[in-house]
Amino acid sequence: MAVTGWIVVDNNYCKGCSLCVEACPQEVLALDMERLTPQGYHPAKMTQDKCTGCGICAVVCPDAAITVYREKPEKVTRR
Ligand code: SF4
Ligand code: SF4
Repeated sequence: MAVTGWIVVDNNYCKGCSLCVEACPQEVLALDMERLTPQGYHPAKMTQDKCTGCGICAVVCPDAAITVYREKPEKVTRR
């Protein structure tokens, strides 16, 4: 089963630079043109549920605005 993940963007730090959008191998990020951060930038957001939790977006973000979460693989127990 593929590992799934998701990200949370801290709008207090995101400056809408798009580096994460360009870097995401799953192409699930975009700038949210309907919202503005407190500093007046369009923040990054997830557009699809295909994030793998790879963490590349968090690495490239110059403002450390992204936190990546990964779903725990379910433990299979046998009796
Ligand atoms: S963790 Fe990976 S797949 Fe998920 S949004 Fe970031 S770069 Fe894309
Ligand atoms: S790389 Fe960071 S600052 Fe740039 S758009 Fe993405 S979350 Fe915002």
